[in-house]
Amino acid sequence: MTKFKELGIKDEILKALEELGFEEAFPIQEACIPVLLSNRDVIGQAHTGSGKTAAFALSMLHQITPKKGIQGMVIAPTRELAMQIAGEMKKFAKYTGIKTATVYGGQGMGIQLEALDRGAEIVVATPGRLIDHLKRGSIELSDVEHVVLDEADTMLDMGFIDDIQFILDLTPEERTMSLFSATMPTEILRLSEEYLRNPKQFLLDADDLSGEGIDQAFLVIKDKDKFNFLLDFIKKVKGQVIVFCSTKYRTRDVAKFLHQEKFNAVAIEGDMSQHRREQSMAKFRSGKADILVATDVASRGIDVPRVELVINYDVPNQDMVYFHRIGRTARAGGVGRAITFVSYSSVGDWNLIKKQIKADLKDLNKEMGIEIKIPDPLKRQIPSRRYGGQTRSSYSRGPRYGGYGRSRGRGSDERGRDRKRNDDRGRKNQYGGRSRW
Ligand code: ADP
Ligand code: MG
Repeated sequence: MTKFKELGIKDEILKALEELGFEEAFPIQEACIPVLLSNRDVIGQAHTGSGKTAAFALSMLHQITPKKGIQGMVIAPTRELAMQIAGEMKKFAKYTGIKTATVYGGQGMGIQLEALDRGAEIVVATPGRLIDHLKRGSIELSDVEHVVLDEADTMLDMGFIDDIQFILDLTPEERTMSLFSATMPTEILRLSEEYLRNPKQFLLDADDLSGEGIDQAFLVIKDKDKFNFLLDFIKKVKGQVIVFCSTKYRTRDVAKFLHQEKFNAVAIEGDMSQHRREQSMAKFRSGKADILVATDVASRGIDVPRVELVINYDVPNQDMVYFHRIGRTARAGGVGRAITFVSYSSVGDWNLIKKQIKADLKDLNKEMGIEIKIPDPLKRQIPSRRYGGQTRSSYSRGPRYGGYGRSRGRGSDERGRDRKRNDDRGRKNQYGGRSRW
């Protein structure tokens, strides 16, 4: 394994890395850093928790000059992820004199304007609020040299694509751009040709979405029995737990039940005020809360190393989401567990996801001797249409991405309207409806 010094990273950054206990570069870092330092575009795919943040953050910091305006930009799909990335960036930048501004919806403009006024060389942002700043002139992208789309497959998905196009149009052509995600479907690779120039692709485990280090299991039960099973499982856990629910409503309900049972749980979902969202995340990150109940707003990118168990209280509506959710555990080469609760009406959805899981998958019904009694009418309904659209088993089924076959350069009015829905709070889901986050 390679040391960061051998990758050519500056001493000021190495000093911070040493303090953080980063001794050797992880594979995705070893692969991407030299290429990014040579200013070639990069597509970086590696499994969840494998250190993609440092891969782009260190490369960016290395090439940025303090006090010369905004030179680096990272765009992420959710506010919490933007904050997390900015937090990492600041830690790595400790001895460089480089400042990072975080720009996301739900927070007062004033705080962000002050941070920008103090001078920042890097902006980490969610698209909606970034566009607000661009329109009012508080952020200028004409000197930007390094652009990163984290969770790139989501950023180029139809909920965000127009915003991303709008933002990229304001950056210089001579920029170095990189895309990172644990999931990099072929559609996205194709679409990326529109944005990247001759990118070097690192697809470290693209064909193996196994969920490395994660002990995966599922349990088919009646929906009304889920809560009691949830209690059984979380009572046995020492570390932290994330419980993913399919809707904001379910998230609130499950959190409420857990409070009634005296568990130290916090919730996060898109209808909560930003203040409460941040409070929940802060409590969970610091270990003051043991359980985070969440919608998919927390399924991508969130890194809380003590998470030992992920429970899918509801089956995710898409197989990629499954891998991102369970990837909240087993971070940085660690181990963890994931249990998916499958209600009778979700068996069809689950079977589609199950096909994609290449790792061993424990059948808890067999192990625990729990009988499945699916009523006949439900069996005929499979796959279910709970989400108002057909369940998709993979990215390759039909035109999901806005990049092809759709017109670009739409009128600014329309873009403006879209944008209101495009911040993580109300972004369109893959079926064009309002997000359940
Ligand atoms: P990804 O974006 O690939 O899901 P992250 O960038 O969030 O993963 O990193 C996962 C965890 O690994 C973080 O807690 C991070 O601090 C840690 N980490 C990253 N690189 C290293 C390294 N080289 N040495 C030790 N820990 C690392
Ligand atoms: Mg990440």
